[in-house]
Formats: sequence, C-alpha cells, structure tokens
Amino acid sequence: MARVYNFSAGPAVLPEEVLKEAAEEMLDYKGCGMSVMEMSHRSKEFQQIIDEAEQDIRDLMKIPDNYKVLFLQGGASQQFAAIPMNLKKNGKAAYIITGQWAKKAAAEAEKYLEVQRVASSADKTFSYIPDCSDLDIDDDVDYVYICENNTIYGTKFHELPNTKGHTLVADVSSCFLSEPIDVEKYGVIYGGVQKNIGPAGVVIVIVREDLIPQEVDISVPTMLAWKTQADAGSLYNTPPCYGIYICGKVFQWIKKMGGLEAMKKHNEEKAKILYDFLDNSKLFQGTVVPKDRSLMNVPFVTGNEELDAKFVAEAKAAGLENLKGHRTVGGMRASIYNAMPKEGVQALVDFMRKFESENM
Ligand SMILES: *Cc1c(COP(=O)(O)O)cnc(C)c1O
Repeated sequence: MARVYNFSAGPAVLPEEVLKEAAEEMLDYKGCGMSVMEMSHRSKEFQQIIDEAEQDIRDLMKIPDNYKVLFLQGGASQQFAAIPMNLKKNGKAAYIITGQWAKKAAAEAEKYLEVQRVASSADKTFSYIPDCSDLDIDDDVDYVYICENNTIYGTKFHELPNTKGHTLVADVSSCFLSEPIDVEKYGVIYGGVQKNIGPAGVVIVIVREDLIPQEVDISVPTMLAWKTQADAGSLYNTPPCYGIYICGKVFQWIKKMGGLEAMKKHNEEKAKILYDFLDNSKLFQGTVVPKDRSLMNVPFVTGNEELDAKFVAEAKAAGLENLKGHRTVGGMRASIYNAMPKEGVQALVDFMRKFESENM
C-alpha cells in the first residue's frame, strides 16, 4: 500500500490514524456486530457517537452554551439559501465578496432578500482581502456575511470585518478547526466538513440560539429551518451518520494533537516552509498579497501554462497529487489542511526545487 501526499482542496486528506481506526471498526463497531453505516440513527450507540462528537467540537472551539451545533446534510452550498431564509427580518444583508464562494452565497441570498455587496476584491482576481474596518453598512441589515478562508484564491481574513454591531455570518469550510477562534464574535459559523474535518456530506452549523427563528415562515422548507434541526438534536430525519462518526474521530485526533493552539502552530510551520520557498523562487510565484495569505490553500504559478501543466504531471508521478489550480485561476494550488503532515509540504518543496533547477 502506497499512500500519496494529497494536496486536494476537497474532499481532502484525512489523518491516517483516523482512517485506520475506521477500517478496524468497519465490520464490528465496538462489539455491536455491525458497522456504523448499518446501525439505526435512533440506536443508543449512534446517539453516543453524535453526542460525543458535539461535545468534542464544543471543547475544541470553546463554544458557549448559548450556541447550537447542528450536523446537517446538503453541504455548505445548501446553507447559502438557509442563511437568508433563517436570518431574514428586515430583508437586507451585507456581503463581502472575496471569491467564488462568497459570490455564489450572495447570488443565492438574493433570491430571498436584498443583498448589498459592501466590499469586493474582484478588481485584482481576489488576490487580497479588502479593508473592512469602516464599511458602508446600512443600519437595518440582518447580517454581514464573509467567506473567512477563500479556498480557491488562497486568501484569509486574519482580522474580522467591523460589522458595526451586526450579526457576523462566516463560511469557514476551508479553515474549520485550523486555529482557535472567538466564537462569540460570530452569529453563525458554518462549513462543509470535506475540507478539513471529514467526508463530504456533512455541514456543521454553529448558531447563536437567539438567531434561530421560533416562528418559521411558511415558505421555508422544514429541512432548511434551523429550528427543526436544533429542536431535534440534528436527528429530525436520518442524518449523515457515517460522516458524523468520522468527524467525531477527527475531533478526537485534534484533541490528541493538542487542540486548536497546537493545530495553528503546526499549520503555521507547514505554510512557512512553502511560502518561504515561493518568496525566494525564481520560477514559482505565490499569487496572494502576503499579509492576506491562507494557511490552508496556497495557489502559485510559473507564469507559463505549459510549464504549469508539466509541473502538475511530474508532481503526480512523484506521489504529490491534486496540485492543479482551480479551473478559474489556473496554475497550481497546494491545500495543506490539518491532516497534511509537515513531511508532505517538505516533499513538495523539495520537488519544486528540483523542478526549478531542471526547468530554468
Ligand atoms: C468547498 C466550499 C464550499 C462548497 O461546499 P459544498 O459542501 O460542496 O457545498 C463552500 N464554501 C467554501 C469556502 C468552500 O471551500
């Protein structure tokens, strides 16, 4: 068995330990004679799995008691609609456009309320985070929306926007659990888990209780009303059971690694290896303004499309997979999520150095 270093943006690398444990428990979960895939979501075994998963993410992120944690289906994209549906009061929201995912979220929200695009970095291909310290935000917006880490462009809000007292909603799909955050600064934190936490098919929504409308508008589908899911402990219908089980194992793994402080340190060390190399390379350049660089997604180019394609192909042959950039950006992108070991990033940089010397 040969495992590659997988730099995919998502679905993405998971901790090998977690995969092995899941494999060991595949046929017989803790003596119950069946796989987690086969068990009732109403069984006491599964209830314990979801309860422990919730407690572990609460511990890791220090989530206050007045926030609900929901394990849902439909991916992050489903929440693009659920967010305006649940948060709409005055019928207006402010969106900060820092890439494709924010753009898509804003376009979806526009079906349900008025969207004000209060800042954007589209003018420079989303290679930076706009100054959000003093935005022109109307007093009556229901919320301010950001995509905190831009998976495609490789930028990250290192400082949250000044929302002028409005509820902050953040899509954290590609930076979930990568570093400590102050949950109380947000009204809603959500993300698809397939970038940094688990298998595709689960989206985690962390929402402050007072933001969950108790009177659900008749036009909101039952499944998209956070109240439905919050009241039922994420078990209104059959949840993505196996996915939640793997998420739980990843939470345990992060705890064992030392929690989010340790993750941050680990991620900073890894990213530094790659950014230091890019900053000194004669062939490769990073595409993001240094102060806004993501620790998770690192896009880079040679400036020559043929050479980029050659690099991606040769890297793959060397066991470094999924380095092709997003179709809208081109070039390369290395996603170096929590589960990517430092050795993987080192192997990538060694390979880039060799490629550079052969192609300059
Ligand atoms: C991948 C991604 C999405 C889309 O996630 P789905 O679960 O496929 O809907 C949304 N936002 C961000 C930031 C992403 O990285």
